[in-house]
Amino acid sequence: MTTVIDGKKVAASVIESVKAATRALETDAGVRAGLAVVIVGDDPASHAYVSSKSKMAKECGFLSVQHTLAEATTQEELAALVAKLNADPSIHGILVQLPLPKHLNSEPIIQSILPEKDVDGLHVVNAGKLATGDLEGGLVSCTPAGAMVFVRQTHGDDLSGLNAVVIGRSNLFGKPMSALLLAANATVTTAHSRTKDLAAVCRNADILVAAVGRPEMVKADWVKPGATVIDVGINRVPAPEKGEGKSKLVGDVAFAGAAEVAGVITPVPGGVGPMTIAMLMANTVIAAYRKAGRKPPRF
Ligand code: NAP
Repeated sequence: MTTVIDGKKVAASVIESVKAATRALETDAGVRAGLAVVIVGDDPASHAYVSSKSKMAKECGFLSVQHTLAEATTQEELAALVAKLNADPSIHGILVQLPLPKHLNSEPIIQSILPEKDVDGLHVVNAGKLATGDLEGGLVSCTPAGAMVFVRQTHGDDLSGLNAVVIGRSNLFGKPMSALLLAANATVTTAHSRTKDLAAVCRNADILVAAVGRPEMVKADWVKPGATVIDVGINRVPAPEKGEGKSKLVGDVAFAGAAEVAGVITPVPGGVGPMTIAMLMANTVIAAYRKAGRKPPRF
């Protein structure tokens, strides 16, 4: 029997732990975790993401601050806001929603966030800590941190002897995911668009993670029987069966077939997706614990 992971349920339990940790920090240290979310411009999808993050932050008991800046905001104005938030002791996490409007350069903005407030885990200091195996000192990119919760629930903390294949080498997902699996003692292959015979590489995986952005690319015969399959892809495709002009979300894995071969699999939607926001909340409370000189809980 294949287990289909319920990402919403796992994310809800992470959120419950975040709420408890937030309450404990306030009671024990008098510190309320604070998250600032910054959005520039009018992109509707980005606005939807930001409002759900701000709402979730409130639900977790955080001080939740949203800065909504006009499309015409300059690089200097955005940099000045980040500097102000860096200096604000009530703010423990800063998130600048990406992508920024085309006239703004996101990289210097992201790198100007203090690493200890970089709850998206995109600062080179945090990427470097993860790459050097320092999992206690930095903040880990939210989506791979969430995918790793599924891996730990399935296989435990020690992946010794297991082969893991991550398809994708982005800084946002593929590289940090590979680093997390390696830190947990898996034997890791990071595959990408130049990998030869990707299907054969995947068939060797006890843990197969797909983060490509190509709808249903990973077929059932790429999956080792009994493997754990984590599908990170979010692809919108036409769904004429739902009516004219309708669309639906699918992952990078051809779910129906792969689910017959895998031991454990995540669906799209409802798998990795809900974990990203939950791990953003976890990173914020972790940052607040560290600032208060306390050891943060593990999520
Ligand atoms: P990305 O930056 O576009 O990276 C895609 C990776 O896939 C690249 O490393 C690329 O290889 C590789 N690739 C492309 N075509 C390939 C092929 N035919 N065979 C093998 N590898 C191939 O994307 P990303 O930001 O990592 O995101 C990947 C997917 O995950 C997207 O669907 C995205 O929407 C989704 N995602 C979801 C969440 C979430 O659930 N919250 C968060 C982040 C991302 P090269 O490096 O060689 O070009």
